Amino acid sequence: MIKQHDQQLKIIKSSKRLIRTLLLLPVLFSVACVLETPDPELACNFVQNRDEQRVSWKSSLPVKFRVHKDVPLEAYSSIQSAVSKWNSISTQNVIQVIKWDAEGTPSSGYADGAPTLYWLEEWESNRSSEQGRTTVVWSRDQIRDADIRINSKNFLFSYEGNDLDPLKVDLTSLLVHEFGHALGLGHNEKTESVMYRLLAKGRERREVSKLTDLESFGCEYGEDTIEPTVLAAAQQEESGETEGNVTTGEGEATSASLAK
Ligand SMILES: [Zn+2]
Repeated sequence: MIKQHDQQLKIIKSSKRLIRTLLLLPVLFSVACVLETPDPELACNFVQNRDEQRVSWKSSLPVKFRVHKDVPLEAYSSIQSAVSKWNSISTQNVIQVIKWDAEGTPSSGYADGAPTLYWLEEWESNRSSEQGRTTVVWSRDQIRDADIRINSKNFLFSYEGNDLDPLKVDLTSLLVHEFGHALGLGHNEKTESVMYRLLAKGRERREVSKLTDLESFGCEYGEDTIEPTVLAAAQQEESGETEGNVTTGEGEATSASLAK
């Protein structure tokens, strides 16, 4: 009798354990789901992955670019100028050219981990209106590669230091835009943005100094990485104040002036 009672107890205990395990399974499963699907983020004009997270280089700036050996020498000053325009907005280096005579061909859709600027004499005939194109490859929310192609089949370019030419595309302006894509930025519908989609021949894009571009950059790479003087100038421009002054505390018997 006692033995039978013991067995009954054992059965009850083990079925209780089974029920507990069954109850716990969905909990474990839902925890796994939460880990798999990260929270969506605001775009801030960045390209987003399918989980709506911004894709970028995160903490691995500067983006280290190679310049392909087919890029003509006269284009170098435009490349340097576009690089320094991006670097001037930040307290850290954003883009760096590490090689000027790189070999290879543009990658299509896979990451060779070597961001490269190409100068192409061949271009798809159904895309002949493209002045340039940047292909960014990421896994999760981390950019692994970015290649820039310049369309020298269908366009002529003016270079840094040249006068603007109504028949030519200003290369510095085009590169400022393409480097923006390489950093993870998409297009911005605001015409003052360097990420505005259109660039007419003989026209210059503005500097990377407008508040809209600084805010986009700061949203992803950190507000504290924006050069404070550049940010202050952009904020002042945005608020319409080109000049101004303020007088504070003159003649007031504040504790600060009393302590003097
Ligand atoms: Zn673009």
